[in-house]
Amino acid sequence: MSRDPNLASYAAHPEASPGRLFAEDEPASRTEFQRDRDRIIHCAAFRRLEYKTQVFVNHEGDLFRTRLTHSIEVAQIARSIARNLRVNEDLVEAISLAHDLGHTPFGHAGQDALNACMQDHGGFEHNLQSLRVVDSLEQRYGAFDGLNLMFETREGILKHCSLPNARKLGRIGLRFIERKQPTIEAQIANLADEIAYNNHDIDDGLRSGVLSTAQLDEIDFYARQRREVERTFPGIGGRRAINETIRRMINALIVDLITTSQMRIADARLQTVDDVRNAPPLIAFSDKVGAEAALLKRFLRQNMYQHYLVNRMTSKARRIITDLFNAFVAEPNLLPPDYQRVGADGEPAQGAPSSQEHSVADYIAGMTDRYAMREHRRLFEVDEI
Ligand code: MG
Repeated sequence: MSRDPNLASYAAHPEASPGRLFAEDEPASRTEFQRDRDRIIHCAAFRRLEYKTQVFVNHEGDLFRTRLTHSIEVAQIARSIARNLRVNEDLVEAISLAHDLGHTPFGHAGQDALNACMQDHGGFEHNLQSLRVVDSLEQRYGAFDGLNLMFETREGILKHCSLPNARKLGRIGLRFIERKQPTIEAQIANLADEIAYNNHDIDDGLRSGVLSTAQLDEIDFYARQRREVERTFPGIGGRRAINETIRRMINALIVDLITTSQMRIADARLQTVDDVRNAPPLIAFSDKVGAEAALLKRFLRQNMYQHYLVNRMTSKARRIITDLFNAFVAEPNLLPPDYQRVGADGEPAQGAPSSQEHSVADYIAGMTDRYAMREHRRLFEVDEI
């Protein structure tokens, strides 16, 4: 396939990619990154995102974001930015849709709990787990484990990584050791994630009653957009006013990100993807808008993520994950056979994780919120089977 002339020279071009771990024939009717996106959409971990949440647990209401709708919003925002910057839209879409595949049930509370359980075994990092899902845990293809994605997609999924883990990963971990940047497309997906959750968490916070509009008016960025909405639509109120305000916030963030990034890209005089890797981060907000986004984040941390109703959920989640982990590690024969590291013959199964704890972590991380709750009942309630 020849180079796409519509893309900037410093965009990720599949022809210049290190490619896939297992060589495959070129796709006939789509680009390599479109093939990645398609594999992600068809995998089981992607479907589970529907029943995993970030802040609110799935059963708390039908209108809250799940990790699935979150990932779709991230992809939408990231594609808009990528198109404006003439970089690879297919790649940002693939990264965005896959970026949360390794998340535990119960959002950050679940991740923190599993990380604490795994402290003596290298910890648990959800970015690394997302990579594990696409590299090995998905078992769908005859020729390889995982989805055999392109290097750039895998690199974008591995947004953060601790140095000890990076050292074990070979080429994909190298940028953390060398302190280099990933592709522009990975940088875009990263900031699109932030734009998406800051705004939808405000929306969900208001919808759930955890946040009030009066509280939000204390944030200048929100208050400015809200005043603008009231000027444009006198007498507007309720959900319509909230939606109009939030869509303006998202738009303001995206427009600022595009203009600022365009300037940074021009200043860096980029020619190739290698130039991108060696340059400072290119996708960024202006100082002013970056400071506003940081305030928004702080507001959410203080008022939403630590709200007592959210804390109750967090505490319950921690207990469920910890109970499950301890029970399975103590008695691996309670696990479904695929997750029992050592078979009936006393030998580790082929391709088994390095310890039973890792295998339990894989099992728990793959659970949806409701599956984890059900599994907890099955193990701890005598009248549940
Ligand atoms: Mg995310």
